[in-house]
Amino acid sequence: MLRKVLYIDLTSGESFIQERQELFEDWMGGTGAGIKLLQEECPSGTDPLSPEAPIILSIGPLNGIFPVATKTVATFKSPLTGELGESYAGGRLSLAMRFAGHEAIVIRGRADRPSYISINDSKVEIKDATSIWGIDAQTTGVVLREHETGVGRRSIIRIGPAGERLVRYAGVVVDTYRHFGRLGLGATFGSKRLKALVISGTEHVDVPDARRYKEVYNRLYKTAVQTDVMEKYHDIGTSVNINVLNWLKGLPTKNFILSSFPEGEKISGEMFAEKYLFRRLSCAGCPIGCVHIAALKSAFSTHHEFEVRKVSYDYEPIYSLGSNLGVESAEGILQLIDVCERTGLDVMSAGVVLSWATEALEKGLITTSETLDVPMQWNNVEGYSRALENIVTAPNEFYQALARGVDYAAEKYGGRDFAMALGKNEVSGYHTGPASIVGQLVGVRHSHLDNAGYSIDQKAAKKPMDPERMVDELIREDNSRGVFNSLVGCLFARGVYTEENIIDSLGAVGIVKTGEELQDLGKRIFEEKYKFKVQEGFDLSHVRVPKRFYETVSLSGSVTPETVEEMLRIYRKKRGWS
Ligand code: SF4
Repeated sequence: MLRKVLYIDLTSGESFIQERQELFEDWMGGTGAGIKLLQEECPSGTDPLSPEAPIILSIGPLNGIFPVATKTVATFKSPLTGELGESYAGGRLSLAMRFAGHEAIVIRGRADRPSYISINDSKVEIKDATSIWGIDAQTTGVVLREHETGVGRRSIIRIGPAGERLVRYAGVVVDTYRHFGRLGLGATFGSKRLKALVISGTEHVDVPDARRYKEVYNRLYKTAVQTDVMEKYHDIGTSVNINVLNWLKGLPTKNFILSSFPEGEKISGEMFAEKYLFRRLSCAGCPIGCVHIAALKSAFSTHHEFEVRKVSYDYEPIYSLGSNLGVESAEGILQLIDVCERTGLDVMSAGVVLSWATEALEKGLITTSETLDVPMQWNNVEGYSRALENIVTAPNEFYQALARGVDYAAEKYGGRDFAMALGKNEVSGYHTGPASIVGQLVGVRHSHLDNAGYSIDQKAAKKPMDPERMVDELIREDNSRGVFNSLVGCLFARGVYTEENIIDSLGAVGIVKTGEELQDLGKRIFEEKYKFKVQEGFDLSHVRVPKRFYETVSLSGSVTPETVEEMLRIYRKKRGWS
């Protein structure tokens, strides 16, 4: 397999392809190749919104070849945190990159006018996007579907107005229902005047040992569809966690003032499924189909004129725009998700920013003159919809501050104790205990998905673990996810890809690795990412933990600053950091 990187310069309009066999041999692909390319392309201190800041999209050796190896990783300098930006998306992108023959795409520079990139195999064109600049992310997809070739093997990724206007947590919509949601990739697109990227390909993928390939493929496929992975993610989907975490007192509610939501049943996954579920979809190459789409019916005129909007939902948006804002209806949450989809905002950051603003207003840190009379109050869906639109259009200093993230807004207006960010990234929907907090602090992208601290807390709630054991688990996950994310599989199916299955599937495409080599790779990838983070100013000894985490009882009971500090001390020691 020839392993190539496509380089595109938006300033000059030029592009070229380079074989980078050594890069992929040493770093596998996906996140391993992504971080090395970022180090090559992004000098220390680069402004994340400058032409010099690169966008790197990369896949791994199994994408498009084995089931559930469906993701693409974007690596960039985050406009939100100022350090490592890393985000994963499914859809058809990894398949389209595979068929176009590019394992990584590096985008440099800034176009002189709104543009989009069109890639078909090795042909790259930079096209005028003036007529779609300012248009919402969904309509942009509809327009490009009409204009571009490659149906069936094509992926369309695009930003909405939030990315164009450089909201620091703007995302990139991928094939309508998937996203590069976190850490502001949409703003990086916007800063390059890059509205979209369309990619398709016709290349053939050879596997060296067809018989072995078939055997391993069938084994992985069967494991995916015959184990509880299928039941867990396909049936109700991740939103099944709303009821579970609510009962266990781990569901953040009203900006983490509470850890359970008395109205939780009304916004449970079961309720969404019963009343709004319209269909389920899959990323290309996945037999599970966890993408749940709701039909949201809304009146647009008198005399019973309705439109039906299709809105995807899962656990995180229901937490961030639901329980976290005290929203008591599934329909209200779908309306707020829909605003984020159209404008291209990351739902998690947007929800946390609004919940901080609601509390800041209640406490008198801001007034209605800042909110421009928008009623930011728990459960006020109309008010929150207007506030989301204002974050994008930024009509005054207050909304400009909200567009920079909750850490920045709280620095300016006060309320840091309840500004729910860790490592400057708005937090995910788990108030499960110390491993979740520490996991997001130490994680390379400050995400719950870096090391699943929330899951370690839940295990510890059943069978107590001391801080050292929890840290060991975090480190093990940090490292092993580095390997899996260099493949780049869907984390929902990480149980399918055991070490043995990874070795076998790599063997079937001609890559020979031992268990020790994989473990070493995971550790090296983690270290390279930390090297970049530290270079850009991240310092684990100066991270902020919002006091609210210690005030509200979690699923594991009260968390104390001493426990968190002890775990951080053990973590640094085990990593060999002073
Ligand atoms: S489990 Fe869901 S997110 Fe993962 S690849 Fe399948 S459809 Fe996509």
